[in-house]
Amino acid sequence: MYIPDFELHRPSTLDQAGTLMKEHGLDARLLAGGTDLLVDLKSGRVVADHVVSLHGIDGLRGLKKEGGALHIGALTTVNQLNDHPLLDGPFSCLRDATTKMAAHQIRNAATVGGNIASAVPCADLPPLLIAMKAEAVLWSAGGERRVPLERFFLGPRQTVMREGEVLTSVVVPQPPAGFGAAYARLALRNGNGIAVAATAAGLTMKDNVIAEARIVIGAVAPVPFYVEAAGALLAGRAPDAAAFAEAAAAAEKAAGPISDVRGSKEYRRDVVGVLTTRALEGALARATNGAEVKS
Ligand SMILES: Cc1cc2nc3c(=O)[nH]c(=O)nc-3n(C[C@H](O)[C@H](O)[C@H](O)COP(=O)(O)OP(=O)(O)OC[C@H]3O[C@@H](n4cnc5c(N)ncnc54)[C@H](O)[C@@H]3O)c2cc1C
Repeated sequence: MYIPDFELHRPSTLDQAGTLMKEHGLDARLLAGGTDLLVDLKSGRVVADHVVSLHGIDGLRGLKKEGGALHIGALTTVNQLNDHPLLDGPFSCLRDATTKMAAHQIRNAATVGGNIASAVPCADLPPLLIAMKAEAVLWSAGGERRVPLERFFLGPRQTVMREGEVLTSVVVPQPPAGFGAAYARLALRNGNGIAVAATAAGLTMKDNVIAEARIVIGAVAPVPFYVEAAGALLAGRAPDAAAFAEAAAAAEKAAGPISDVRGSKEYRRDVVGVLTTRALEGALARATNGAEVKS
């Protein structure tokens, strides 16, 4: 099976990319690392005569901090994110995802923007980013808008992005004092195994009580799913086993997995409960003493 012929465009500005996307409409796709797109073109899942590479456009790579918020350029690769010195303090929990997804070679090419824009339900970065209240920055010729990631995904491979829009960065706000997050994931093997199920949890602790909890499940619903009800159950409570068990049960209930080669829907639902407890325990350890967590 070969990748069908396509015309490769190499714009050097967002304006040029926007014009090309407008000109070719549904017949064009943006190219970042290509680890999803080239597979999809080869399999025929995606058909496009025009591929618009983002690689020549300045300003889409790298990390910066502004007012405590972390800005991650969409073209930053997963390994560049993982190794970046600004991925420190409460932001370092993102390494729970960057170290586990895919394999080293893929992580060298795969970008943060591609992981989000592809909107695959088992993608590893979105759950943690949603737990941390991250926003997607979307550029278009008409201007820029920001969308909270929890509202970005509409369904498998479907997002709120409009024709001609480019995801330029992701902004993770500065977490409050007493915040910790963790990501727990199960795959059938360590390398290049996509998640059977996953949970990200973010906890903000104040005076030994949970001030806020955010729980996001991955690979078990059509989108990375923010289970607001599970977090609400924890607010105002002590972070004990009984509270975590209730939240885990709520996450299980919210999951809508399918049966596939990775496991039956019943198994995956059970796994979500286990992973939710693990993620909450990991988030609590980081929130209370910054402990390094084995997830
Ligand atoms: C062997 C293998 C194993 C994998 N394992 C995992 C895994 O464990 N976990 C995981 O999460 N993923 C995994 N993936 C999927 C993939 O590597 C990631 O989702 C990756 O981050 C996609 O990024 P990319 O830069 O390669 O995107 P591309 O393939 O370049 O693009 C993907 C899609 O997003 C669009 N797009 C890309 N960038 C932008 C942008 N800035 N603005 C708007 N649209 C954009 C493209 O048009 C395309 O539709 C795996 C892939 C392979 C091949």
